[in-house]
Amino acid sequence: MTDGNTKTLLVITAHPADAFDLAAGTIALHRQRGDQVHVASVTHGARSHAPSIYDDKQEALDEAREAQLLQEIIQEKKQEFEAAARAVDATATHFLGEDDEPFVATRSVILRLAELYRTVRPDILITHHRTEQNHHDHPEVGDASARALVTAARWLEGSRLEPYDVPTVYYYGTQDRRDVRINRGTVGVAASHVVDIESVVDQKREALKAFATQKYQGKGYSTPEYLNRRLESVEGHYGLFSGCRYAEEFIARGPHVTRLLPSVR
Ligand SMILES: [Zn+2]
Repeated sequence: MTDGNTKTLLVITAHPADAFDLAAGTIALHRQRGDQVHVASVTHGARSHAPSIYDDKQEALDEAREAQLLQEIIQEKKQEFEAAARAVDATATHFLGEDDEPFVATRSVILRLAELYRTVRPDILITHHRTEQNHHDHPEVGDASARALVTAARWLEGSRLEPYDVPTVYYYGTQDRRDVRINRGTVGVAASHVVDIESVVDQKREALKAFATQKYQGKGYSTPEYLNRRLESVEGHYGLFSGCRYAEEFIARGPHVTRLLPSVR
């Protein structure tokens, strides 16, 4: 299905799974209408999002074995990321492989992201908000990706590509991890856009299932027990508050200028 006005989306994710946790349904819906969707993972996620591998191993590691294990986990995370992207029919993936836990937003990361914006030239960019109350790497990636918007549009050191000003930016809806909220003293920003994902919820389930190395509250991402509970309590929660079955939430970076006020019905 396409109306001849297809768009290019670039979805930035702190760790390989976050784009699918927060926007898998939206990615699938945009692909259905013929849009191009690129998904870019800033970190490899090996140190924060593979507990089923490293849980009981770190204590006994020597330096060489630690380096080897890291490379093995990075490869596994990359494969999970690509499998999840296939589940929602994403057009392309970009695995930047920066270190996580902690991710630190350096100048070189911002330059890399800006070069990616110039390469993909998205109509719509989705990224983390700097007040996102989730894993502490998320707001760091949010800040770096927001700063890269300005860099891509101005003088990007070392780039041979034409400057590019991303016209539309959305942040993922605010989540709620209390330790990060308290540590940063942030109040989550309310969603401006809610996407009804009921028709593609099975694709979201498949995308999440790809992350077999991840656990939440002791349950693996690939288990029906986690998947069923999670979709009802997260996507179901967002849907319940907006009058649909399952939803994903987004925050527009700025006001959308229109000629008339749009109606929701
Ligand atoms: Zn994450």
